[in-house]
Amino acid sequence: MNEYTAIDDIKRAYDAQVQSRVIYKQHDASWRQAILRKLAQEIDRNHNFVVAAIASDFGKSAVEVEVTELMPVQMELKEAIAKLPRWMKDRKVSRSWKLFSIKPYLHYEPKGNSLIITPWNYPFQLPMAHLISSIAAGNTVMLKLSEFSPHINSVIRKIIEAVFPADHVFVVEGAVDETTFLLGLRFDHMHFTGSPAVGKIVMQAASKFLSDVTLELGGKSPAIIGPKVNLRTVIRNIIWAKFVNAGQTCIAPDYLWIDRAYQNDLATLFKEEILRAFGDRPADSPDLARIINDKQFDRLTQALNEAVDDGATIWVGGDSSAEQRYIAPTVLTDLKAESTLLQEEIFGPILPVIYYTHIDEALQLIQEKEKPLALYIFSGSNAFVQRVINHTSAGSTCVNDAMVQVMHPNLPFGGVNNSGIGQSFGWYGFRAFSHERAVADVKLMPLSKFFWFPYIDKTKRLLR
Ligand code: NAD
Repeated sequence: MNEYTAIDDIKRAYDAQVQSRVIYKQHDASWRQAILRKLAQEIDRNHNFVVAAIASDFGKSAVEVEVTELMPVQMELKEAIAKLPRWMKDRKVSRSWKLFSIKPYLHYEPKGNSLIITPWNYPFQLPMAHLISSIAAGNTVMLKLSEFSPHINSVIRKIIEAVFPADHVFVVEGAVDETTFLLGLRFDHMHFTGSPAVGKIVMQAASKFLSDVTLELGGKSPAIIGPKVNLRTVIRNIIWAKFVNAGQTCIAPDYLWIDRAYQNDLATLFKEEILRAFGDRPADSPDLARIINDKQFDRLTQALNEAVDDGATIWVGGDSSAEQRYIAPTVLTDLKAESTLLQEEIFGPILPVIYYTHIDEALQLIQEKEKPLALYIFSGSNAFVQRVINHTSAGSTCVNDAMVQVMHPNLPFGGVNNSGIGQSFGWYGFRAFSHERAVADVKLMPLSKFFWFPYIDKTKRLLR
């Protein structure tokens, strides 16, 4: 286990960042682009260390690290470097003929000191992506990594220390004590990714200084299969989205609602496609990541055992090994509505399936739950898709695929209420870490001239 950062060191770096905030705020686009380029080079130099470290932390395959950790960060960097001059430019808004003398525009100013707190499940992508947004916006960053991914944390620290002085970006390793200390400090923006429970702690801490917040949280994201689909293709989409990172993905389909009309084919299709993906011994597949720690492993296996004891039917998987923190890709049905797997975010390779006879049954039960981070709809019927969209709320939705919405550079990423507040990545990340300042530039004559005292004459005229 890495040593946690000493509180004195955190305080020293924070004080230095408070002092330097004004300097980093002044840097222009080309300065910020240059430091982001340096970050890109340092990441490239450490490419193999990133792959090896994440494999050590939870057995994630090299291809998955490439696709879900390194590639998104490289894309985020490319986008920020290419578009930063445009992002930083003042944005005109339309003039109003009533206020003809005002030239209105939005000015993007750095917020100042930022705090970024990240989880362990995408331990390279998430800290780096949010760091890029904050640096692009011109801020200093205290970057708090998860205590459960020590190997990748060491690589991140090495990369950051090679690119940034501590008064610009400082990496904090630690758990609750270190985070609690950070949360007691004054920040202009706090960006938190993690569970809704800790999100509430962060929001409460932010209220002390009225710091701005972005909360990227979790929840139970449903996938719904409706009419007019190629069922095998849909099942394959769902299998990838559910079992990448061993299900430890905030936007993974948490559970599946499916039209009862498909019930005869479903179990067989899941069996065949999981066999194709991971072979007949998924424990030996190099493509299946492990569960991050014993606590998460125990939570998942207990929930699974509870469901089975209560009469659930396992179609595929169900086996596990505590020693390897391995859980087989598991699909099951016939769960009790009150089972843990249907009540709490699963965050592991277990997929419950529920049938509906009419889509309104599913919509009603989805509406009764907290608003999810994502909601997936599979159907060739536009009317069905629109019905689901109009009768639910979610941070994001992907139609006829799962999880790819997060890759689109022009879409924001974020939750809604219990699944999050605010938006991240690309332009939206830059905007979250910037203050969008309204500027009314009065070009001809001051409008206040028309409101000038004494009011009495004007009142008479108005009332006439
Ligand atoms: P977590 O909330 O337990 O921890 C997140 C961070 O908060 C860590 O850095 C941790 O050290 C810190 N922390 C934990 N307990 C704390 C406390 N009591 N006080 C102060 N700080 C504390 O989450 P996790 O287990 O690391 O990650 C899993 C959760 O994150 C899931 O709910 C998942 O859906 C969510 N998540 C969301 C996104 C997103 O972008 N919306 C991405 C990844 C994960």
